[in-house]
Formats: sequence, structure tokens, C-alpha cells
Amino acid sequence: MNEPNGQYPIWHPYTQMQTAGKPLKIVRGEGAYLYDEEGNRYIDAVSSWWTNLHGHAHPHIAQAIAKQAQQLEQVIFAGFTHKPAIQLAEKLLQCIRYHSKVFYSDNGSTAVEAAVKMALQFWWNKGEERKKIIAFRDAYHGDTFGAMSISARGVFTSPYRALLFDVLFADIPVSGNEEQCLQQFKSMLNENKNEIAAFIFEPLVLGSAGMLMYKPAVLDELLKLCEANNIITIADEVMTGFGRTGKFLATDYCSVKPNIICLSKGITGGFLPFAATTCSQKIYDAFLSDEKSKMLFHGHSYTGNPLGCSAAIASLEVFETEDVFSRILLIEKQHTLFSNRIKNHASVKEVRHTGTILAIELKTETESGYLNTIRDKAYSYFMERKIILRPLGNVVYVLPPYCISEKDLAEIYAAIEGFLSL
Ligand SMILES: *Cc1c(COP(=O)(O)O)cnc(C)c1O
Repeated sequence: MNEPNGQYPIWHPYTQMQTAGKPLKIVRGEGAYLYDEEGNRYIDAVSSWWTNLHGHAHPHIAQAIAKQAQQLEQVIFAGFTHKPAIQLAEKLLQCIRYHSKVFYSDNGSTAVEAAVKMALQFWWNKGEERKKIIAFRDAYHGDTFGAMSISARGVFTSPYRALLFDVLFADIPVSGNEEQCLQQFKSMLNENKNEIAAFIFEPLVLGSAGMLMYKPAVLDELLKLCEANNIITIADEVMTGFGRTGKFLATDYCSVKPNIICLSKGITGGFLPFAATTCSQKIYDAFLSDEKSKMLFHGHSYTGNPLGCSAAIASLEVFETEDVFSRILLIEKQHTLFSNRIKNHASVKEVRHTGTILAIELKTETESGYLNTIRDKAYSYFMERKIILRPLGNVVYVLPPYCISEKDLAEIYAAIEGFLSL
């Protein structure tokens, strides 16, 4: 890996190629496990970067993709449509009844780009001067330039900072800070009256920020304020969607519903790069016109890819046939018990959990954050124990596939306790 002219031909994401160890070659996945070329078995405790829902190589999804590949693998999606795309849209809208249209793309960042462009062009098409966007200060919405602009000004975005567009940053209303954040949000709305196009947020859990969490009640208050001020609300459910927080969507805990929702990661059960941006009829209607110039100017070559659609349909079918929500509940229960067991541990600063997501923030001598060195130590410690955990700086988190067994969860918890007591 660290030979500049070496034979290894790949540049890996989020990896310092000079110092990173050799990447592990994985040859097979099954359920919550991954197997390397030497036959070692690893517990995938981070669901392969938050994508996997029902386990690796789930036969129902694998078969659906194989069948579709023999029928129709790809077709241009402007002027053409196909059954898997229609079926999936109908299925998604059955779960998101307050929305009426689905716009497809390829990944979380593109789902977000499409959402932001919908919101901005909504006002443009109406001839209103609303151009500002509110985002959370620690947000992560993806790695393309628009998505970076509405994300935290931090270590991920520093090199590009000069070229990112300005947004209004709101503090996250974490427990105890709710009132203060609501006041700040209100002032922001007052100071920018009729100028704010949209508020984009990760509902209940801010993933890349270190699994920071806040409550549905305060999100409801923020959404109400937006509604009263005609601000379009965009829920980035790329990580939180498809049961991750205990309900189908994290915003299902809220009584006020967002105007636009971004879905990706778990949408195909973790099989293929695919995404959807759903919206209400009101958003969609603003693009209908005799003038072509009012259409949404967005699309990708693989938009609505039939294989992605089939995988997503099959994943939703697994929800129906395998009582996935009782597994989710079981994970949530185990997380709660474990949290209670370690929350007062001397090495623990805070334990947070929402649904299937558990985060343990470790005390640290140095500054906390993504580059905290405790991360490498923890990563290696867990890898030696054949558990894939990829801490975000000093935050160790568990985000398992829903099919994980109680035994494997216990093994993960034991390893974490072992690390805490080093
Ligand atoms: C991962 C993530 C994204 C970006 O998705 P990619 O598929 O990696 O582009 C956007 N928003 C949230 C909340 C995410 O967790």
C-alpha cells in the first residue's frame, strides 16, 4: 500500500494511502458476516458503511437482481419507463403517503443534490427570490459540491472551503439545548424573512458527525416553524431510512412531515448503488408548465436503473416476509441494556442510542473529532477480534445488519467493554 509506485492499482475512499494498512480482501458475505480470502470470518458491525439491512448476499434480493439482469439491465429513463421503476415508486409512496412523486438517482449525494435543486428551482419557477438554505452545523450530506456546501465546515470540507456556497448553520438541538436552538432558529428566520428556500436535516441522528442525536419533539418544532414560514423541508434519510432508527423512517416519529425526502444506502438492502428523492405534490406541481425551462434540470445516466429498482423492491419484500421490525426491536433492546451497563464507565464520555444505532463517545485527552488517534487504536483492536467497527474519531458506534444474532451482538459488546478497560 505505501509504495508510491507499487503494484496496487486502487485509490481507496477516505483513506490516507501512505499510512493505511493493506486493505483486507473479502471474498464472500453471508448474513452479518464477511469472509476474507484466508477464510477468517468477521462480524460486519457497521453494515458495510451503513448500507446493508437484511444480511449479505440475501438470497431473495440476489435472485431478484439475477432475474432482472436477464430481462432488462438498463434503459434510458427520459422518455422510457419500466415495471420495476413503477412498482418501486408505488411501494415507496405506500410507505410515504404524504408524498406523491419519486425521483431516482444513484447514491446519497445525488439524492441530496436532486432535493436541493428541487427546492431552489421551486422558488425560481415561482419567481420568488428565495436562495438561502439552512443546515445543521455538524451535518453531513455527501461529498459532491452541493452536498459539501450544506455540510459541516470541518475536516472533510476544508480543502474546498473557498468554493462552497454559503448556508445558514443552525445548532443541533441535542438534549438540554432544545430551547436555545429553537430561539436561534427563530432569529435566523426573522433575520432572513422570505429569503430562505429550504431547511435540510438528518432526522434524529447525524451520522458522520459522530452519531449525534436529538429528539423528534424538537424536530417537530423546527418543522412547524418552517411550515409557518413557507420554507421547504428536506429530510436526508440516507442513513436513517429503512428501519435504522426503529421506524421505517426517522421522520415517522414526527407529526409534521417533510416536503422532500432523500433515500439511499439501505434502499437496495445494501446490494447496489441507488437512490430516490421523494416529494409532495406541491413541490412537483411547481415544475409543471408549458415552458420547458421549468423542468427539473437533473438526471444521471443510470437514473432508475432496473437492477437497482429490483433490488429495492426485493428488500422491501423482505420487510414484509421476515418480520424485520421485531429484529430491529430486539437490537434496540440489547443496545439499551448495554448502554445502561457502560454509561458510567470511567472511559466513557457519553452513550447514545436510537433504534439500531448505538454510539459510545470515549473520553479523550486530545481534541475529539474525526482525526482523533484513538480511532486507529480502536479499529485495530476490533479487527484483531474479527469485528468490523470503524470509529468516527473518538466515537465507537455499532450499526449492525438487522439479521445479526443476539450472540454476535453480545460478542461486539464484550469487545467494546474490553477496549474500554484497556
Ligand atoms: C452517506 C450519507 C450521504 C451520502 O451518501 P453517498 O451514497 O455516500 O453519496 C448523504 N447523507 C447522509 C445522511 C449520509 O449518511
